[in-house]
Parts: sequence; structure tokens; C-alpha cells
Amino acid sequence: MKKRFPGGIHPKEGPGGKAVTSACPIEVLPPPARVVIPMSQHIGAPCSPTVKVGDKVKIGQVIGEKTGFVSASIHASVSGTVKSISPCIVANGTTVPSVCIDNDFKDEWIELAPPPEDTPLSELCNMAGLVGLGGATFPTAVKVVPPKGTVIDTVILNGAECEPYLSADHRLMLERPQDVLGGLRLIMASLSAKSAYIGIEMNKPDAIGKLTELTKDDSNITIVPLPVNYPQGGEKQLIYAVTKRTVPAGALPSAVGCLVCNVGTSAALYKVKTTGQPVIDRVTTIAGRVARPGNYLVRIGTQIADLIEAAGGILPEAKQLIYGGPMMGMAINRTDIPVTKGCSGITIVAFDAMEEHESPCIRCGRCASVCPMLLMPTLIDHAARKRNFTEAERLGAMNCIECGSCTYVCPAKRSLTQSCRISKRMITAARKKGGK
Ligand code: SF4
Ligand code: SF4
Repeated sequence: MKKRFPGGIHPKEGPGGKAVTSACPIEVLPPPARVVIPMSQHIGAPCSPTVKVGDKVKIGQVIGEKTGFVSASIHASVSGTVKSISPCIVANGTTVPSVCIDNDFKDEWIELAPPPEDTPLSELCNMAGLVGLGGATFPTAVKVVPPKGTVIDTVILNGAECEPYLSADHRLMLERPQDVLGGLRLIMASLSAKSAYIGIEMNKPDAIGKLTELTKDDSNITIVPLPVNYPQGGEKQLIYAVTKRTVPAGALPSAVGCLVCNVGTSAALYKVKTTGQPVIDRVTTIAGRVARPGNYLVRIGTQIADLIEAAGGILPEAKQLIYGGPMMGMAINRTDIPVTKGCSGITIVAFDAMEEHESPCIRCGRCASVCPMLLMPTLIDHAARKRNFTEAERLGAMNCIECGSCTYVCPAKRSLTQSCRISKRMITAARKKGGK
């Protein structure tokens, strides 16, 4: 069976890419003197602070409680004193109320203990403040409870890590494979899923080998080597590549009996189950034009500047900082932005996409040929520029996964992904207004 989804690209990497970072073991970044922890690090309702200025906090203490069903609590990542609760700028350029803690360097934890054996999976996720650590940041507690009437027979762990430069998941699979598998077995048991797959791109043969060896006696877990093809880690693309099931437009993976979870999320789930530890840190890659690209275990709320310093600083040829990978990440122009739960990497590249000037479409069709969602990006772009969002919706803009493949291949340098993103925002706003 050919494990391939339609479309896709092979983005080029410059120096400091996967070939370098994937060989770098995870280093623990010493906790900084101060952390700034945003109260919204997930899709859904922001958290409400449970501490006030001057409070002493311990590591693992809840400092932000969830305020809605789709939300995830937030925990202190250092021990110390709450210095302020005020808006801070996050990667997408917006300001978010954030709890700033001065580290007392006593490294004091709340009392940790494994939760009772019969704790439901969703409750474990709530305790940990767990969200999709691959970057999606959807609260895991919601994800592991399938809609009424649906049966999940297949769990898929996403170890594809198809974004150029990033290797945090790769290192996690190599260095904490038992945690990754432990989380997977928990999810399978909770959902009574009959089978599980871990999809890993073939450019990680060591991770494929290690997990294959560790699962040789698990007849219901299969390690699936996947072709290197971006965006292989897209949820729908991964489901199709592994099971040949197609998730209908607008539907969730549960519609085809699947649940997809990132390998990092799985490992974090196992950690809370076995130790009671919530998400207070994560593995993040720093790659590209820095002196020493690598992978770090970083406390949530650490500023990017600290990470850059640990990596030996930015090289002179660097032009653009990206929060995440170059395909789906966000360009940022400052380094006082905190690392949050969804930060799988920081990439520093020698080009600035904003400096590229677009020209008229030459109708070459390349954008459509690479679109993994089988859309016509040039037509959506045309509709969006005319502000005809009804037409953009008709063209399927809502199915765009914002992978950036169309923009990457466009010889006219047209901002096709941005047009899709704007269309989705406008269509969603119109639907809300219309009560749909
Ligand atoms: S239209 Fe959307 S899904 Fe298709 S290639 Fe462009 S960004 Fe990706
Ligand atoms: S890739 Fe660019 S130039 Fe080619 S059809 Fe699409 S929008 Fe037009």
C-alpha cells in the first residue's frame, strides 16, 4: 500500500537544519530568573489567574484555571514570587494577560504523586493542562472524549515531524520512547481502540528502529515509516497515509474512527499518569542561523532570548526569526516572547519572506498541484482579494490547513496561504454573525 497523500512538497533547508539538530541530544535549559506565563496557550477559552501579585508559588502549582469546556489549566514552571499579572506580547503579536514569576531558584515543587489508578483519561489531561504539543494546542481532555455515538478503533501517534529544521519530536522518540508508548497504551485502553500506529517520516530511521524494536511484542501497535513529504504530519494527511481513510471536509478524525495525537503529547500524558507532573516544560528545537543549533527542555514562560543565548547567539547572516518551523510558524520581530506549550521550535533563517515582491499569477497551476487538500489556491486568492468571501467559501477555503505549500511553490510569490487564512477568518465571522 502506497503511504502517500495527494500533493505535498519537499521544502529545502539551509545550514542548521534537521541533519544538524536531529543529532543533538535534548539539553536541559537552566530555568531563567523570570518567567512570563501567558494565560492563553491553547485553542479555546483563556485561563483565569488563581494567584495575585506577591504570592509565593511552587513548581506545578495551578496559576491559571480553565474557564470553559475547551480550555486547559496552566501551572507555575518555577518556584518564586508573582511579580505581576499584566498583558504581554505573544508570538502572534497579540497581548495576553500573563503571570510573571521571579524565580527564587529554590526549585520547590508542589507535592507530586501519581493520580489514583481509576482516574479517567480526560481528568488526567485536565490535571496536566495538556494540549496538542505538536503546535495545534487543542486541549487534549476534549480530544480524548469522542463525540457521542462515535467509536474510535484506531489511535495514531504523529511522529512525522515534517516541518523543516525541527527535530524535538525526533529526539523525544529516541530519548523517551517508553513515555511515548506508555501514553499511547493509556489512550488505547481508555478508548478500547483495537489498533494503533505511529507514523514517522523515513528521514528518522533511528526512531523507526527503536520504536519498532520496543513494540515487537505488541501485535496491535504498528510503526509506519512514511515518505518524506510535507505536510505529512497534517492530521488528515496522516490518517490517509496510514489507514487510507478520508476524513470528510469539515469533519473530525473521529468521523472515520481515528484519534490523532502528537508523540510529545503522548509522552506528557504518561508523565502525569506515572508521576502527577503537569506540563511545566517542553522540548523545543532552536535551528538555522544560530551558533549551536540544538534541542532543549525549556520551562514554559522562558523568553526566546534565553534560548537564543543558550544556542550561542544569532549568526550575522540571519534575517528572520520564526516562532515554530519555517512552513507553519509565525515570523516574529522581538525576542522577549515567551516559550509556550505549543512552541516546538524557533527557526532563524537567512531570508525575509516580506522582502519578496509578488507579481501577477501566470496560471502555472503549481499551487493546485501541491495542495494536500485538493484546493485551487489561486482561485481562493483571487476571490479573497476581491473580498468575495462567499466565493472563497464555495471554493473550499475552510478546508485549507494553512500548510503554506502553495505559497512555497508559487513562482509569482503570491501570498496564497495568507489569502486562505483571511478568507477563513472572514467566513467564520460571517457564520457567527448569521448564527450558523
Ligand atoms: S491552499 Fe491551504 S492547504 Fe492548500 S496548499 Fe495552500 S495553504 Fe496548504
Ligand atoms: S502557483 Fe502562483 S503563479 Fe502558479 S497558478 Fe498558482 S498563484 Fe498562479
